[in-house]
Amino acid sequence: MSAAAALPAVPAHGCGDAPVLRERGQREVFCGLTGIVWLHRKIQDAFFLVVGSRTCAHLLQSAAGVMIFAEPRFATAIIDERDLAGLADCNDELDRVVTRLIERRPDIKLLFLVGSCPSEVIKLDLSRAAQRLSRRFSPGVRVLNYSGSGIETTFTQGEDACLAALVPEMPAEPGTARSLLVVGALAEVVEDQFLRLFAALGVGPVRFLPSRRAAELPPIGPGTRYILAQPFLGDTARALDARGATRIAAPFPLGVEGTTAWLTAAAEVWGTPAGRIADAIAPAATRARAALGRIRERLSGKSVFFFPDSQLEIPLARFLSRELGMRLAEVGTPYLHKQHLAEELAMLPEGTLLSEGQHVERQLDRCRAEKPDIAVCGLGLANPLEAEGMTTKWSIELVFTPIQGFDQAADLAELFARPLVRRAKLMV
Ligand code: SF4
Repeated sequence: MSAAAALPAVPAHGCGDAPVLRERGQREVFCGLTGIVWLHRKIQDAFFLVVGSRTCAHLLQSAAGVMIFAEPRFATAIIDERDLAGLADCNDELDRVVTRLIERRPDIKLLFLVGSCPSEVIKLDLSRAAQRLSRRFSPGVRVLNYSGSGIETTFTQGEDACLAALVPEMPAEPGTARSLLVVGALAEVVEDQFLRLFAALGVGPVRFLPSRRAAELPPIGPGTRYILAQPFLGDTARALDARGATRIAAPFPLGVEGTTAWLTAAAEVWGTPAGRIADAIAPAATRARAALGRIRERLSGKSVFFFPDSQLEIPLARFLSRELGMRLAEVGTPYLHKQHLAEELAMLPEGTLLSEGQHVERQLDRCRAEKPDIAVCGLGLANPLEAEGMTTKWSIELVFTPIQGFDQAADLAELFARPLVRRAKLMV
């Protein structure tokens, strides 16, 4: 069976112009510091120093699953009461902490000073601190800064802020040679699969942001075409545009349909003939479709309700509804970037309830009224909803797990099928 025959027709209008329920109120989300948990694994010679409070340190420890490393690559420089009362010079303290860290850890090539609510409250200027420390420790160590503060942000915005801080550091690409930049942290296994597929499609050279090593930041210039691998990178995209790069518009590489469209969008920019695109994609797409078919039986007809959390909600909703036959009760997202999500919105079933932002009490009422088969939400809502008898999926797990690309499509579907199977067993 071909991909086209297995999928519902793309809706005539989709949700591109659909009204969006905009809500403001109490929110239940993690802050941008959470991004450190996956970014420190990704950029292997970087260190993340949060300039924050004990609360920030606890958040990081619990989000990281209290991972104890012999040589961890993130830490918190605690701002204590003396600092908050203005009794100590925070800049001197920070310089001392950084100096000690760099002396002890010669493996660190890139140090991020990560701002938090407390550092913002006392107006500690981390960008000046980063410049000062960069001058002191260059060329061995580069010091950059970004904010992971929780005020009005969501946890994936930490990655956006981190990558946006890296863009000005990317070397200029000499000339106008064309290259592809894949933007957004991906598991290495996924990067390797995409590299093989891009080679078969005649697309290259292909580089990734973030790169695995700080010293290997990809070059950028007017010949750079970039494609987003994650939907929460608005600031990074703006910074790349400012460096002269051009975005390739595409859906996101979730599921067979999303991955096919994402790869095809890049291949078309390279002028790859349609026949070659089809041949290059067919083996992996066929395998993935067969694997999805087995899970579809368990998910088809079930309803899903998305609370706004990761900003992955809209591509996930498209995948679950179109490839697995699930019904979308509500698709909430913390922030709806209409331009970056245009291709995704066009594929959502007409009439889908889209909401942006959060008024948690009202949304909980809507969720209880809907009684969805599964609710996708943050950790703070999952336990109370489970206690009310609802099946939940932690949205943060979808960011930690490799879910992009053909070979991961079935794993992604399993993440939704498993909690339903578990619930069904408990009900027997
Ligand atoms: Fe809490 Fe703000 Fe620290 Fe995040 S940055 S853990 S929201 S105090």
